[in-house]
Amino acid sequence: MAGLTAARRLAEAGRQVLVLEARDRVGGRIRTIREGDQILELGAEFIHGHPPELWDLIREAGLSTYPIDGTDYCHRDGKLRKCDEQSPIFKFLNQLEKWKGPDLAFADYPPLEKLSPEKREEVINYVQSFNAADYRQIGIHSLAVQQHAEDEIQGDEVFRIREGYDRLPQFLAWKAREAGARIELSRPVERIEWRRGRVEVYARDGGELLELTAGKVIIAVPLGVLHQFGVVFDPVPHALIAAHQLSMGPVRRFTLLFRDRWWAEHDDLKLSKLSFLFAHDAMPPVWWTAHPWETRTLTGWIGGPRSASFAQCTREQVGDIACQELARIFSLPIDYLRNQLVCCATQDWQTDPYAFGAYSYVPARGLDAVLELATPVENTLYFAGEHTDVTGHWGTVHAAIRSGERAAKQALIPTRAQLHQMTARPA
Ligand SMILES: Cc1cc2nc3c(=O)[nH]c(=O)nc-3n(C[C@H](O)[C@H](O)[C@H](O)COP(=O)(O)OP(=O)(O)OC[C@H]3O[C@@H](n4cnc5c(N)ncnc54)[C@H](O)[C@@H]3O)c2cc1C
Repeated sequence: MAGLTAARRLAEAGRQVLVLEARDRVGGRIRTIREGDQILELGAEFIHGHPPELWDLIREAGLSTYPIDGTDYCHRDGKLRKCDEQSPIFKFLNQLEKWKGPDLAFADYPPLEKLSPEKREEVINYVQSFNAADYRQIGIHSLAVQQHAEDEIQGDEVFRIREGYDRLPQFLAWKAREAGARIELSRPVERIEWRRGRVEVYARDGGELLELTAGKVIIAVPLGVLHQFGVVFDPVPHALIAAHQLSMGPVRRFTLLFRDRWWAEHDDLKLSKLSFLFAHDAMPPVWWTAHPWETRTLTGWIGGPRSASFAQCTREQVGDIACQELARIFSLPIDYLRNQLVCCATQDWQTDPYAFGAYSYVPARGLDAVLELATPVENTLYFAGEHTDVTGHWGTVHAAIRSGERAAKQALIPTRAQLHQMTARPA
């Protein structure tokens, strides 16, 4: 979304634009698959609040959305019941904005110590799950900035795109092409050699290595790819050192497609309004339906270090473990759920060579690194992507769009040499 946003803006401003995309599709960490009439998201799924740049694009693309609602259930001590208010967690996290102390890791946040062991665990689980973060690393200052940013866009109101999230990058790619940008798929970039005002990009085209030349380059690959040196820079820009001060968080999410909406239809359950399910003693600990849309899907989510427990699992193994957990939570026979299961859809973002993780977070004392990444390098290299957002919305689709807009604006500022050419008068 970051790269396509920038490409569209630059092409609309009359610049010559070439997008080199490693995958055979656009969308990156937005990936939707379809099974008959069912839509299964493997990456981004929710619109968090009312970020204007995202909603403008959704409207322009003519997509339809719906707000999530329904009843949240909690499974604790072997019992399933409606959840108590989640507000104590949010109240606690809202206090972060008042923190005047140094930027510590959340684990060292003094008020955390004052909570009961049970509440402390709940708060830590929430922070790790939502941010895909290790609570021993994520910084208090970035959490406060994020909390403030979410409040500004009513981030607690959550929506889905009915046609599937992938329609959004597809639309954006169409707009970029319409404006004159060229988008080449299956062209992983391996190396970038640069000096002020001139860049040589080496990209793979099957067995061949293409060499392309440009005056300016926007690098919109995920933070994980920068960390793993998926693209090699010569010379190494200082911004890349800043990138190593930020963290890429892991997530394991999977969507189970069933024959029926058994949670709504099974005589012993009748949970027709089931929305989120928090199973504190299960793995995964967070589940959701697509309520109020009556799909036959249940999604499981593990964010942060605990996702490692599913690291080596195949799709089939994930599906089977998930059925066992659901059988336990809902007190149903395992064979009933195994027979209900049509398929388990999941993508391992951690080992994906064009992502190497789910989304970024900012560790303690890392906020300056974000600013550095968002600063043009010699008016020649520009970094974009959710991890470079300077408005506190890291790890979201709207952060990626914002960063693409910002990088395009920066790249449109003429260099000194161009200014000289533009203002030079014939003698
Ligand atoms: C499981 C999961 C759930 C999520 N849920 C949500 C959600 O509900 N709501 C939300 O707002 N956000 C969510 N996110 C986060 C959101 O998906 C991302 O923040 C956003 O899509 C990132 O966009 P981007 O353009 O920065 O990066 P990407 O989408 O990753 O795009 C980067 C592009 O660079 C390409 N690339 C990588 N390496 C190379 C290379 N060497 N050469 C050329 N191209 C390369 C990639 O293929 C990719 O297309 C979720 C993410 C995950 C993984």
